[in-house]
Amino acid sequence: MNIKLNRGFSNLGSAYLFSEIAARVNAFKHENPTVKVISLGIGDVTLPLAPCVVSAMRNAAERLGTREGFVGYGDTQGLLELREAISERYSSLGARIGADEIFISDGAKSDLGNIFELFGDVTALICEPTYPVYADAALMSRKRIKILPCGAESSFLPSPDELEREPYVIFLCSPNNPTGTVLDKNSLKKWVDFALFSGSVIIFDAAYESFISGGELPRSIYEIDGAENCAIEVCSLSKMAGFTGVRCGWTVVPRACKSGGASLHSLWARRQSTKFNGASYISQIGALAALSDEGKRQNAENIAYYMENARLLGEFLEGRGIEYFGGAHAPYLWLKCPRGMDSWGFFDHLLKNAGVVGTPGAGFGASGEGFFRFSSFAHREDILEAIERMGKLRL
Ligand code: PLP
Repeated sequence: MNIKLNRGFSNLGSAYLFSEIAARVNAFKHENPTVKVISLGIGDVTLPLAPCVVSAMRNAAERLGTREGFVGYGDTQGLLELREAISERYSSLGARIGADEIFISDGAKSDLGNIFELFGDVTALICEPTYPVYADAALMSRKRIKILPCGAESSFLPSPDELEREPYVIFLCSPNNPTGTVLDKNSLKKWVDFALFSGSVIIFDAAYESFISGGELPRSIYEIDGAENCAIEVCSLSKMAGFTGVRCGWTVVPRACKSGGASLHSLWARRQSTKFNGASYISQIGALAALSDEGKRQNAENIAYYMENARLLGEFLEGRGIEYFGGAHAPYLWLKCPRGMDSWGFFDHLLKNAGVVGTPGAGFGASGEGFFRFSSFAHREDILEAIERMGKLRL
């Protein structure tokens, strides 16, 4: 072949993190076949779907098998009823987002990557440590990247204070994966003000918003005045309702979001109608059930379960005098590796001596070195056993 390939791919690091974790775990299992390895490393949910979601999807599948109930292609923007339910959800947060500003997706990840198609020659601002998809997608789309390191000195909370007044595509994730830290209203307002002042756009990843409890911390960027002029929000039912396998999410592109007079909403609508034929009907019906009062109640029980896991892990770390972030409004705990170990050193220590797996912070960018992520997406008995095993360790 003599086709010029996308050079953006050659700037990517290797997909090293999870393959390296798997390789080390496999080697350990090979040498210790009788030890049950406990994983606190994954960011995937472990509890089954809420019963009302299952029954809604079962009924939807049955309807599709009848002449009267069959539907084919739907609105590429998503079922109106679902978009209205999401719009209602924003109203309950005090944010005004119309159903026509919501685009139903097959989950957050696709849109986080595809969003670069809206932009020309831009710089993506990545606040590390964070979800690696933003930087990788920027590189694949041949965009420049500016890394804003947000380490322990800033409590892993990004701030625009030191930034030059330049237009960026700013990625913010709150609650953040992997640190579990959450931007409060003042910090988020600073970002919105910076975006408006510098002509930037914010891509706000709210995939973990349902883990925020109490009314103080913002669950949507649209709780901040002016955000509708400068922010796109990407959200998902994956962690909120256990949809990692079902696949459904949404992206909000407000009509007021404009650059040089051009509407980002129109561009995104055009992009979607060309390249996306809508999320699966069955998943959307499941999402609608998940957002009903019954669905919210059933999913709140699952979230409470994960948050109790997080509390137990946090209590253990505190008892051992290990500094950590997150765990209060997020399913992730981000701990400082004890005794000055680096993050892969601590990974090996935990695996070899306790058979427990976590995620080394170095995998989330240079400012993650020296830190380690525990996920509370696990069965309670595994959390308790991991705590018991780690309790016997020198940490
Ligand atoms: N955003 C963040 C911060 C995530 O951690 C994840 C998945 O782990 C996603 C987005 C992707 O979610 P989805 O399953 O909706 O594609």
